[in-house]
Amino acid sequence: MTSDFVVSKPLAANSVEPNLRSGREYKESLRDARSVILKGKEVEDVTAEPTLMRGIETISAYYDAQFHPETRDDLTSVDPKTGQRFSNAWLVPYNKEDLYAHERTIRVSTAQTFGVFGRPPDYGSTKAISFVAWNHLISQGDPDALARIENFLEVGRRNNLLSADIVVDVQANRKLAANEMKGRLRVIEERSDGVVLSGAKAGNSAFAQGNIGTISMPPPAQNLPEECMIWAAVPANAKGLTLLLREPLTSGREDEDDHPLDSLGEEADGILVFDRVFIPSEYVFSYKNPVTSNIYNTLGQFAFWKIATRLSYRAEIFAGAAQMIVNALGTDHIPAVRAMVAEVIQYAAILRGMMVAAVEQAKPTESGVMLPNHTFVTAGRLHAIEHYPRIMQTLRELSGQGLISRVPRETWERPDVKALLDEYLPGHAVSAWEKNKLFNLIWDMSCGPHAMRVALFENINATPAPALREELYRSYDRSSGITAIKKRLGID
Ligand SMILES: Cc1cc2nc3c(=O)[nH]c(=O)nc-3n(C[C@H](O)[C@H](O)[C@H](O)COP(=O)(O)OP(=O)(O)OC[C@H]3O[C@@H](n4cnc5c(N)ncnc54)[C@H](O)[C@@H]3O)c2cc1C
Repeated sequence: MTSDFVVSKPLAANSVEPNLRSGREYKESLRDARSVILKGKEVEDVTAEPTLMRGIETISAYYDAQFHPETRDDLTSVDPKTGQRFSNAWLVPYNKEDLYAHERTIRVSTAQTFGVFGRPPDYGSTKAISFVAWNHLISQGDPDALARIENFLEVGRRNNLLSADIVVDVQANRKLAANEMKGRLRVIEERSDGVVLSGAKAGNSAFAQGNIGTISMPPPAQNLPEECMIWAAVPANAKGLTLLLREPLTSGREDEDDHPLDSLGEEADGILVFDRVFIPSEYVFSYKNPVTSNIYNTLGQFAFWKIATRLSYRAEIFAGAAQMIVNALGTDHIPAVRAMVAEVIQYAAILRGMMVAAVEQAKPTESGVMLPNHTFVTAGRLHAIEHYPRIMQTLRELSGQGLISRVPRETWERPDVKALLDEYLPGHAVSAWEKNKLFNLIWDMSCGPHAMRVALFENINATPAPALREELYRSYDRSSGITAIKKRLGID
């Protein structure tokens, strides 16, 4: 058994693969007396709460897939030193092969949920990996940070932990300076063996269904007090930590045919309140280090790539969905309809192309970690989120009445209507029932409350469009263009 601050529930190592956990073991790890409040009530066991359970089952299938011969090599790698497998979520990329391994993992997890879980287990602790990547910067203010991060990565890897991202501060009056915001997470006590945190953080997607959170800071704020400059890891059951969940968007009772995506459950978001939460020094990765508080866009690079890569695989699914709609309706011969499908294809092809280019042009950082090309990732992500609403609208447009003529399975199965529906509603080379199921999927993808939450997530998680534009302006190298123009015009 492993006993460690961030391992909220120590379990015996898996008998087949000591660094991996099965779905059953993952679920067991969540029964750790964490404090979660949903609709005014304490959730005693998140694995038994209907609106969290389905999402947990979905994640649990991911954990099981780590052992499955078909997906094992996509989700895990073998440590050459020990010969043991470990989750790619915790793989620090040192070469392109490692990035390809991450890509394979993201492809499998995106296929599992169609990408509606933005913080699947393979997201890992991207921030911790970034710390290794940018250690040459961070070590200027804190030479010992790397040792602590490497220990965390080792513990996360050994225990196959699911980490949420705890970044953004709670929303209050944005006219206030950072030091005036009461809710801003800060160290309120420094001890010889660690720090005590109070305040709150927003978002925290999948924290209720995960094991740990990696705390970091959003982009620099003016007058950021030193006590707010904190990067750390915290287990979901830390004393003094309470997660206030938003209202659920799925019930946990959705029929698989009626709701092919919503029946997989959802990733829960919420406000995380820290009431004197103690973090031991070994899990405080950075404190009062102004370097880390000013390089959010640098430290986020690996996470941004993973997010955009997931979206690029989602986009391929959107292109497939658009084609299946027009095939089912027999509208694929209409030029205006084909043009709409082409728009979805264009969205997918550009995004995927950007991600391929980002990996092909990956370079090692000064600290030796291989990171995809940041410009391509940023431009690709901006493309993805700017066009996302239009792509969703295009799927709706292509569907016509299909989205509201969906008949629930229980109605369909009534003897007095089944034969009639089977006869009246078939599509082009597709049965009426198959067509019904297709539009159920499109509904979950583009119309339902959960689809809206996913759209909000894609739009804003890990920095919204304005920040991406600013980052492109800051980082894009236009020197060759400027030099060419100056030379042509004879300007110095
Ligand atoms: C579904 C969902 C899940 C999320 N999950 C997580 C998570 O797991 N972890 C996490 O840390 N965060 C998470 N977030 C939060 C997300 O990171 C933030 O919402 C995002 O970074 C924007 O910050 P904010 O909400 O505090 O915006 P605010 O600062 O409150 O601003 C509100 C809006 O004003 C505009 N605005 C504000 N400042 C500027 C500016 N300088 N330039 C241009 N426009 C501006 C933008 O339109 C912005 O959306 C999640 C959000 C959603 C919707």
